[in-house]
Amino acid sequence: MPRVLLLLPTTTYRTPDFLDAARRLGVDVTVASDEPSTLEALNPAGLLALDFRDPEGAARSAIEFSRVHPIAAVVGVDEETAVVAAAISKALGLPSNSPEAAAAARDKAALRRLLDAAGVPSPPSRLFPLDGGPEGPSRAVRYPCVLKPTFLAASRGVIRADDRESFRTAWNRIAAILEEPDVARKGGAAAREILVEDYVPGAEVALEGLLTEGRLEVLAIFDKPDPLEGPFFEETIYVTPSRLPETVLARIRSVTAAGCRALGLSDGPVHAELRVGGEGPSLIELAARSIGGLCSRTLKFGAGISLEELILRHALKLDRDPPPRDGRAAGVMMIPIPRAGRLERVRGRERSKAIEDVEDVVITAHPGQMLVPLPEGSRYLGFIFSRAATRERAEEALREAHAELVFDVR
Ligand code: ADP
Ligand code: CA
Repeated sequence: MPRVLLLLPTTTYRTPDFLDAARRLGVDVTVASDEPSTLEALNPAGLLALDFRDPEGAARSAIEFSRVHPIAAVVGVDEETAVVAAAISKALGLPSNSPEAAAAARDKAALRRLLDAAGVPSPPSRLFPLDGGPEGPSRAVRYPCVLKPTFLAASRGVIRADDRESFRTAWNRIAAILEEPDVARKGGAAAREILVEDYVPGAEVALEGLLTEGRLEVLAIFDKPDPLEGPFFEETIYVTPSRLPETVLARIRSVTAAGCRALGLSDGPVHAELRVGGEGPSLIELAARSIGGLCSRTLKFGAGISLEELILRHALKLDRDPPPRDGRAAGVMMIPIPRAGRLERVRGRERSKAIEDVEDVVITAHPGQMLVPLPEGSRYLGFIFSRAATRERAEEALREAHAELVFDVR
C-alpha cells in the first residue's frame, strides 16, 4: 500500500474527512501534527511530530522517516501546511507546488505583488509597518479600504474602513490581534505588518479547483448570497452551482487560472475567492489548499467520492481527470456566532436536521467553549448542509434549518 503523509494542524476541522478518505482508498496514512503526541511511540508509522513553522526542518525529519516508511504523497490542509508539504515533496522528489509558490500563496502581500506584476485583476494594496502607527497610512490610502493581517485565515482581523477615524480604530484592533502570543508566533515578521487594500464592491464567489502540471480543473464555483460589506466579513452561506451567467463564470475561471500562473502554483488543490463588480472578476484570495472548515462536505464527485478522496487520489496520481461533481445543488451555512460569551448549549438540532433537503447539522463548538465573534475570532460554531433540486431551495433550506436552532450563550 502506498503511504500518504497528511499534515494536520491540531486546530483543523478536516482530520476525520481526510482519514475517512484514506480508509476508503485503502492507503496507509501517517498523520503529521505540530504537537508531539504521547501516542507517537505506540504508533511510530502512523504519527509524526513536525514543526510546521520550520518547513526545511520538517522536510529533514520527513526524509528520515521515509527511509523506514516510504512516502508516496504529502498533503497539507491549510496555507501553512501547504508550504510544509511543498518543502517535503521537493525533498522527496514528489510532484508538487514549488515551496516558493506555496509561500507566496500563504502571504497576502506577496499574493498582491505577484498578481499586480502579472496584470491579474486584484485590489490595489499597500503594506504598512505596524510600528509606524495608523496616522500616516490613514492619510495615504483611498477609501473605502480593507485592512488585514497578511497571514491569518477565516476573515480573522479583516476590517473595512470608510474614513480616517474608522481606519485608526481598525488598525488598533488588528494590532491587538497581532500581539496575541499565538498569532505573533505564527506570523513572525509578518505579524508586524498590516496590508491595506482598496475595497472591491460586488458579489463574491468561491472557486474550488485542482491543478495538475499547471492546468486548472475547476471543481465547483460557489455563490455567497449574503452580502459581505463589512466592517467585518463573517462567512455564512455558500451555494453551488453559481447563479452567475456562463460568460462571467468563464471570466472567473480564467482570472483564477491566470492567478495560479502568476504565483507559480502548479499542483494540487486551490481555493480562490473573487468579487465580481462592474469591471469583471477581481481576485481577493488565492490559496494552495482546499475549502476550509467542513464546507467540503457539500461536494461529491462521481459515485459519492469526497473532495478529500479526490485530493488524495490526485496526490497519488490514481486518475488522470477528476470525475464530475454530483449535479445537484448544494449549500453550506457556517453558523454565525450570535454574540460573544460562553456557549452553554445548542437546542433544536433534531428539528433543524429534519427540515426538508437538509443533509446534516454539525455543531463543532462544544458546551463551555468561549465564542469569539469576528474580527478577533477564528473558530466556527458549526455547519448546516443542504442538497436540493435547485440552488434557491438549497439556500432556503439552510435558512429554515438555522431558524430552528437556539443558542444559549452566557
Ligand atoms: P482570509 O484569508 O482571512 O479569508 P480574505 O483576504 O479572504 O482573508 O478576506 C476575507 C473576506 O473579506 C473576503 O472573503 C471578502 O469578503 C472580504 N474582503 C477582503 N479583502 C477585500 C477587499 N479588498 N475588498 C472587498 N472585500 C474584501
Ligand atoms: Ca478568504
